[in-house]
Amino acid sequence: MPDPVAELSRLLQGFEVVDLTNSVEDGMPYYPGDPRPTVMQWRSLRRDGVNLKLLILGSHSGTHVDAPAHFVDGGAAVDELGPMAFSGEAIVVDARGYREVPPDVVPLNPSRVLLIYTGISAAWRRGWVTDDYPYLSREAAELLVKRGVRVVGIDSPSVDAPGAEEPIVHRMLLSQGVLIVENLSRNLGRLVGKRVWFLCLPLPIRSGDGAPARALALVPRRR
Ligand SMILES: [Zn+2]
Repeated sequence: MPDPVAELSRLLQGFEVVDLTNSVEDGMPYYPGDPRPTVMQWRSLRRDGVNLKLLILGSHSGTHVDAPAHFVDGGAAVDELGPMAFSGEAIVVDARGYREVPPDVVPLNPSRVLLIYTGISAAWRRGWVTDDYPYLSREAAELLVKRGVRVVGIDSPSVDAPGAEEPIVHRMLLSQGVLIVENLSRNLGRLVGKRVWFLCLPLPIRSGDGAPARALALVPRRR
């Protein structure tokens, strides 16, 4: 019988790993009203004999996940979901040029994970306060729930409109148990139209409404 671990290693060699995570750095973008992310040298090799940084982040800083607890009273927290809850087969759809992403970007037969590329990730730069970006229409959110999507990832800071008084899209998705990944990096643009395996691992913040995450796409190499 073949060794399954060796078999998995062999299979993984057939995939390119594309990082969809924005780097965590001082002055990285943040949502208005959220904590301003800070990354500081706390100890240094020269002075203290060791390098060590201090991080100040919100639970929704940078590339991150939203757990149901973000907007649903009594909803699951990030540490209560399984470690693979945000991962799985994915399809990457093109939503460039829309202010409000319409339902027709939702494929007829989507995978467990739907990754939406709006192109706004090209604006990701230090000092950007994310108060203007594309978002999902209510109709698109309804449709993807109906078609069985379990995780929605987007390269935009939020699935809801900037400054929305009522977070209708968050509420609709999270109350149905559909999980959200936001601020995916511009590398998502290389994968438009592709089927990939999405691997997204949030930090298990206790009772966390969300958490920074490392998000990767495993993309089949062309043979
Ligand atoms: Zn969020």
